[in-house]
Amino acid sequence: MKPVRLAIVGCGIAARDLHWPALKKLPRHFQVIALCSRTMESADALGELIGCRDRTTDYDALLRRDDIDAVDLVLPIPLNHDFTRKALTARKHVIVEKPLAASMKEARSLCRAAARAKGVVAMVAENFRYRPTLIRLKKMMESGIAGEIYGARFDVFISITPQTNKYLKTKWRLKHEYPAGFPVDGGIHNVNALRFLFGELKTVRSSAQQVNPTIGDVDTMHIDYRAEETGVPLQLNLFYSARGMREIRLLVFGTGATLEMRGNTITTFRDQKEPRVENVEDSGGYVEEFLAFHKAIRTGGTTETDFAEGTRDLRTILDAVNKAGLSP
Ligand code: NAP
Repeated sequence: MKPVRLAIVGCGIAARDLHWPALKKLPRHFQVIALCSRTMESADALGELIGCRDRTTDYDALLRRDDIDAVDLVLPIPLNHDFTRKALTARKHVIVEKPLAASMKEARSLCRAAARAKGVVAMVAENFRYRPTLIRLKKMMESGIAGEIYGARFDVFISITPQTNKYLKTKWRLKHEYPAGFPVDGGIHNVNALRFLFGELKTVRSSAQQVNPTIGDVDTMHIDYRAEETGVPLQLNLFYSARGMREIRLLVFGTGATLEMRGNTITTFRDQKEPRVENVEDSGGYVEEFLAFHKAIRTGGTTETDFAEGTRDLRTILDAVNKAGLSP
């Protein structure tokens, strides 16, 4: 089977550090045949790295080409809507980075555009959904190993500074044209994970703070969700100015055991027993998300992160932003 002929659009950090390392492991599935960016400088830099000479700054011209089957949009969030709509109109399969859009209005508009473009795959690159560790955790929860699940808590305690975080170099994050800032850009991953494990979430209460004004409107949020189906309370703590910290962990509390996911490790804690540690092979879910994209293109199917799902993720985090008193 011939590989899908792909153009990467947006040759920045995520394209270089996340998408290309995954794509280069999948030469039978994808052939990167063109690169497009705002400036030739960044297109050239990625082109030199990956050995792709076909580079442009003209997205409209790229979409007119017959030798491109699909586009991989790795752009500043406010561009997702217009670039995705154009790709769907040109009948190119599209994988667009999370969040799907900068507002609910834009996300709904993209859902309608995807529905009109029958036969075209429209997918959000929400890598968390494909992370083997998260999938393993869900299986463990379903197996009953932890007993009845009665709560969960997802902590993201990190310190975002120019020295500790490469994403602060992107101006569009600092002057963000979408609500909140990092809690939407980053927190949408955690929301996706919680929705995957617990189903739809209702915001019970939420608060937001700006600890470091230089990294956005809001960098700290406490969110209390409740799983709509089971009523299980879920706490999400998004602290992006937690000085000196790098602690990201998800705790799932059951009547028989507590499960902890930290990086690629799941630890099962029980009373009077040594914790059981399981390491999962997991490089972030990026390879798996591209495999899902490829499969949907080749089978005429869909993916678990279609635009409706991306819209539900966005609604869930924006609902918390709204409840905190910030208008999304
Ligand atoms: P970035 O470094 O700023 O990259 C964005 C790229 O888009 C830049 O190279 C920029 O080109 C290009 N661009 C801007 N305007 C354009 C235009 N009009 N036409 C074509 N290209 C244009 O940002 P990033 O950190 O890579 O983030 C990109 C996306 O990836 C965001 O949606 C973010 O949410 C997502 N992301 C996802 C993850 C994940 O784990 N899933 C992690 C990080 C980021 P120039 O360089 O020429 O200005």
